[in-house]
Amino acid sequence: MKRVVVIGAGAAGTMAAIFAAGAGAETILLERTKDGGRKILISGGGRCNILPSRLDESRFVTDSSSNTLRKIVRSWPLAEQIAFFERDIGIPLVEETESVKLFPASHKARDVRDGLLSHARARGVTIRTDTLVSDVSRVDSGWSVALTNAEPIRTDAVIIASGGLSVPMTGSDGTGLRIAEKLGHTMHATYAALTPIVASGSSFAGLSGVSLSVTLTATARDRSAAATGGFLFTHAGYSGPSVLDVSHVLVRSRAESDDPPARFTVRWTAHGDAEWSERLKPRGARTVIGAVRAELPDRLAAMLIHAAGVAPDRVLSELLRDERLRLIETLVRGSLPWTGDEGYKKAEVTGGGVSLAEIDPRTMESRRCAGLYLCGEVLDAFGPIGGYNFLWAWATGRAAGIGAARTQ
Ligand SMILES: Cc1cc2nc3c(=O)[nH]c(=O)nc-3n(C[C@H](O)[C@H](O)[C@H](O)COP(=O)(O)OP(=O)(O)OC[C@H]3O[C@@H](n4cnc5c(N)ncnc54)[C@H](O)[C@@H]3O)c2cc1C
Repeated sequence: MKRVVVIGAGAAGTMAAIFAAGAGAETILLERTKDGGRKILISGGGRCNILPSRLDESRFVTDSSSNTLRKIVRSWPLAEQIAFFERDIGIPLVEETESVKLFPASHKARDVRDGLLSHARARGVTIRTDTLVSDVSRVDSGWSVALTNAEPIRTDAVIIASGGLSVPMTGSDGTGLRIAEKLGHTMHATYAALTPIVASGSSFAGLSGVSLSVTLTATARDRSAAATGGFLFTHAGYSGPSVLDVSHVLVRSRAESDDPPARFTVRWTAHGDAEWSERLKPRGARTVIGAVRAELPDRLAAMLIHAAGVAPDRVLSELLRDERLRLIETLVRGSLPWTGDEGYKKAEVTGGGVSLAEIDPRTMESRRCAGLYLCGEVLDAFGPIGGYNFLWAWATGRAAGIGAARTQ
């Protein structure tokens, strides 16, 4: 019987252990915290957005080959993942249609975490918590996994599922990334992704708590991202799904000291130039503030009119052409000031990591080290808000578990 050691009882590692044991391997799941799966517990505001209800593969982000990424994502189709949770784990899922997200019907993330760990145990996985892995090294034809508080474990195959660097209090501190690098893997520089944006001293500071739906574009020298969805003014700057989804472009622009820094622009409503032109046409005694307020929260409307250098009480029939054009520019392609980001402390995920070119997309086995497998956030890929990151963790975890159980 092959022995498989999995490092990290998070989303990817627990799934890997379930499938390694299911494929007949003696499976040991090592977890540094006292329980594991802590990101699952805090995910989706404690409700766990377990998967998207519809998948758009093009929304994943990687510096590696998008072709390899697609192959991996397709290795466990969404419908089969849904069936696995509902049938094998016994967690019925419900769709939140407007956001295209799936949640457990109980709306309790704990059910997902506990359900996966119980299923792993039921398949015969040995789970060792409070166990910190410090190193992985080759011995003879297998591997030795060094622990800080116990004897090293000899194994035929090892799966690195220790996550990235985001929200370190959940247990991820980058050990797996360091081990993979030490073993000779090509690494793409890591960066915080899906993280709120900071705008110190911004004129929007007084809007903290105001939320709306917008379209954002972040454009840097050699990359850009756009997203439509929820936007929230915070004390520090901006958050909400649309901000998180484009944040990596700003984070990387800062890390790479881009000069000028990435541009961050916003279309504050669903309307483009033509629709705003129509709405700003003279209409009786209607004022500029009246027209803009009809589409946007009051305080934001006032600020945007001020930013465009237009008098809010001006009657639309008296609005000059230049003023109309400036206002439309602000409403459709407004510039969002930003000074930084909230980094890994608040990032839902880590971008960068082990290059996908270093792994076999069918088995997740390292092309550098036979018998070593990688899955989850440690790899160079992440998806947008909406269950994409768990989808990645589940798909890569499953493939790595099956691959490792069949290691030569
Ligand atoms: C606040 C928040 C909300 C989120 N919400 C969602 C959501 O709703 N939907 C979604 O799809 N994604 C969500 N995500 C992202 C998702 O949680 C991650 O993409 C996913 O958990 C990554 O899985 P992983 O197994 O690779 O890493 P992790 O879940 O981070 O698991 C890694 C595990 O390895 C353990 N470990 C690390 N180093 C060692 C070591 N040296 N020895 C032993 N154990 C170790 C850690 O303790 C941890 O348990 C959210 C993330 C955050 C932070």
